[in-house]
Amino acid sequence: MNAENPDNTELRKAFDHQRRQFGIQPPPPYDLRKDRLNRLLVLTENHADEVSAAISADFGHRCAQETQLAEILLIAGSIKHARRSLRKWMRTRRARTALHFLPGSSRIIRQPLGVVGVVAPWNYPYQLTMGPTVSAIAAGNRVMIKPSELTPRFSALLKSLVARYYSADEITVVTGGADVGEAFCQLPFDHLVFTGSTAVGRSVAQSAARNLTPVTLELGGKSPAIIDADCAVEVIAPRLAMGKLWNAGQTCIAPDYVLVHESRQSDLVDALRRAVRRLFPTLGRNPDYTSVVDQRHFDRLSEIISDATEKGARVERLTNDAEDAPDGQLRMAPILLLNVRDDMRVMREEIFGPILPILSYQNLDEAIHFVNSRDRPLALYWFGHNPRNRDRVLHETISGGVTINDCIWHFAQEDLPFGGVGASGSGVCHGEWGFRALSKEKPVFTQRRLSALPMLYPPYGRVFSLMLKVLRRLM
Ligand code: NAD
Repeated sequence: MNAENPDNTELRKAFDHQRRQFGIQPPPPYDLRKDRLNRLLVLTENHADEVSAAISADFGHRCAQETQLAEILLIAGSIKHARRSLRKWMRTRRARTALHFLPGSSRIIRQPLGVVGVVAPWNYPYQLTMGPTVSAIAAGNRVMIKPSELTPRFSALLKSLVARYYSADEITVVTGGADVGEAFCQLPFDHLVFTGSTAVGRSVAQSAARNLTPVTLELGGKSPAIIDADCAVEVIAPRLAMGKLWNAGQTCIAPDYVLVHESRQSDLVDALRRAVRRLFPTLGRNPDYTSVVDQRHFDRLSEIISDATEKGARVERLTNDAEDAPDGQLRMAPILLLNVRDDMRVMREEIFGPILPILSYQNLDEAIHFVNSRDRPLALYWFGHNPRNRDRVLHETISGGVTINDCIWHFAQEDLPFGGVGASGSGVCHGEWGFRALSKEKPVFTQRRLSALPMLYPPYGRVFSLMLKVLRRLM
């Protein structure tokens, strides 16, 4: 899409409208922000079933309970948390003032930035469009949202629902493909929150840099799960299996591969097989199991498996095949891959599907080295009981976040910052962390009538030297 394209002009008009209204109207007070959050809660709760149905239609099949839990409940919870905390988050903070500046005083004002852009992927389309939106409107910003083209029914529904609950200068949704995404990211937003792949994130960061737009990049990568020798594999197997199989593995923080102590590998494989068969006794027509989103991703996952098996990996089936899946549903049976090597695609690319490679290690140094010799992951999971090993993994690896003895759940904590590091992203979202990321925290120093500072003015002489001596001692 070039600059003359009418669609591009429409984007620019929508942006300019929001920016102008932001400039004309006073910063939104508490009541207006709360009202915007309330409207989002009503939208979320009143249209949950429509949202769930649209996402399911886009996926071929998306388990309704997963949508209720991971999209609706999570966002309703974020809105309520923001509503409860809003007064506290908006409050001006007092800051310490050094002695020689007294009786002057210091404080920090949290101000809205202006217009925030939100670009979202397809895998949790409601959560990943609305999560940043909650933070943005709580912080008093206007929001433009660009959802994914891979969920067209959902994106069209979101556009119409948002238009029903908000004026275009408050929140607006722009739909379209990668070209629209590209044009969208060239707008001079006051902040851009991009959630998606690392490859696209890189180009988004470059577009934003041209406008000096600050970006939060919520990207992907390969998140390891490390299983210590003392693990109760029967307890951890369902947790690991669900971490992988929510949304059929199409989750940015799903465990991408497992590093298991060599003494426990075969126990773990057996326990995973039992756990997955209990969780998903059937597959093809089981409403609890989500489909792969489209043929391209299904083919990509199939090619990853073929590439691995051609190079010597062994497939361990965890359930029966999904051959009886209804027409139009791309269900992929969950599998483990054993004997994997670094030259296989499965160990080089983010998997984003129900395939779990299992690698073994002899000692913890080896596992830590394995993680540290790759891009910094978005999440890391450690399972075990030995506090020394746990602390070594926590302190000697860097990842976006960690859950110990389970998968995924650090994400669901509103009071923990969520975000990647290095190739898995930068910046944070959720709760007060998200609010602050989308606010200008403005430092303000107020001088009083009486001040000692003129003693530091020229003409410099004895008074200045004396003051300098005193200050050197005080500081
Ligand atoms: P994607 O990067 O292909 O697309 C994400 C969004 O960017 C879409 O709306 C798309 O239209 C838009 N887009 C595409 N090309 C663009 C361009 N050149 N400029 C601007 N925008 C562009 O990602 P996806 O396939 O939709 O999602 C899967 C990826 O997202 C995985 O890598 C996953 O790990 C990651 N993800 C990360 C998080 C997180 O919180 N860190 C959450 C969910 C998904």
